Amino acid sequence: MNWTIDELNRAAATCSCGLMHHPIAIREIVVEQCALQRAAAFVKTSFRHVSIFADANTFQAAGSALVDMLGELGVTCGCCIMEPDANGDVVADERTLMQGFLSCSPNTEAILAVGAGTIHDIARFCSFTMKIPFISVPTAASVDGFTSAGAPLIVRGVKQTFQTQAPIALFADVNVLAESPKRLAVSGFGDMLGKYTSLADWKFGHLVADEPYCPWIASLTADALQTCVDHVHEIQAGGPEGLSVLMRALILSGLAMLLLGQSHPASGGEHHLSHYWEMELLRTGKPQVLHGLKVAAASAIIAGLYKERVRERMGSIPRSPTTSCYLRRVQEQKTEVERILADIPSGIDIRSLIRLVGGAENPADLGIADVIVADSLNHAYKLRDRHTMLRFLQA
Ligand SMILES: [Zn+2]
Ligand SMILES: [Zn+2]
Repeated sequence: MNWTIDELNRAAATCSCGLMHHPIAIREIVVEQCALQRAAAFVKTSFRHVSIFADANTFQAAGSALVDMLGELGVTCGCCIMEPDANGDVVADERTLMQGFLSCSPNTEAILAVGAGTIHDIARFCSFTMKIPFISVPTAASVDGFTSAGAPLIVRGVKQTFQTQAPIALFADVNVLAESPKRLAVSGFGDMLGKYTSLADWKFGHLVADEPYCPWIASLTADALQTCVDHVHEIQAGGPEGLSVLMRALILSGLAMLLLGQSHPASGGEHHLSHYWEMELLRTGKPQVLHGLKVAAASAIIAGLYKERVRERMGSIPRSPTTSCYLRRVQEQKTEVERILADIPSGIDIRSLIRLVGGAENPADLGIADVIVADSLNHAYKLRDRHTMLRFLQA
């Protein structure tokens, strides 16, 4: 899983899949020890006044060191420590967005997101609205969305994704990652495990509904996933080496989405289940559960469901003139779909990988009730207009 931005852009320019690929405009991606110094040096080359967005923990983990380094280089730096909600969670909602805007001055030339996914979403939205760039400084290998242009925000209690901007650079200091709470890397590994089912759904959507598909981009995501699985013990150990592998895999998964301009490679039925559960937790005022923990548990359920039910459902499609074009198409692609199903590991296999890193194998372990899970299997497909197998099972 060795890649550079230049190599990816060159391969994208010559890809033979026929789709338009979006060149990656991120200037630098650095995952190494001492990446914080590299971040400060990068900021110094282009900016004189920046603002750091963090939460109390991530400010302590990396933000305050970065402020000192920037100060030594003559860059002035405002700080915005996001306030948690009543449950103790920092959420990307009206309150934290406003806190971010209020902390910036007209002189702010760039925002540094120092934290995990939520801090990035706030920084992404604020910087985009202020027409200034943002720089990603992840403090944990927790999600694959650091390089994304989409900002999922909670507006009036409902989660919506806004298209904003990707960072202009990313600096992940592996020593900082190694110091972050273990469950964050478990979440990052879980977000990667979700690719087993998202890649299967993407290929299915392409076969039966012509969704845009690129075998090369799919191979990038698959490669990132396989590398994580190959290094599961190092990732579990939580040292700089394992977390460096995980972080690079998460970033590559994010870049695959940027190259395609869509989230298909990394988000299928398992993410729709996870979103459904998240909305339910929000609606009932419960504390949030880390994204990748939900995704991993959802992926195990989805893998089991697809392997058990999709073949059976294909077999029950009536061969009659009144059968819809869509179902006839699925029937025509039966052999290919069976191949996709054979490539998905079983739910049991996915759960053993979750167990190896100490994650949650079942939604109940995350406080998500069985009734919510049952509802999500019937309704979560409606959250996205995408031809997943979850949707096919309801057709
Ligand atoms: Zn392509
Ligand atoms: Zn995800």
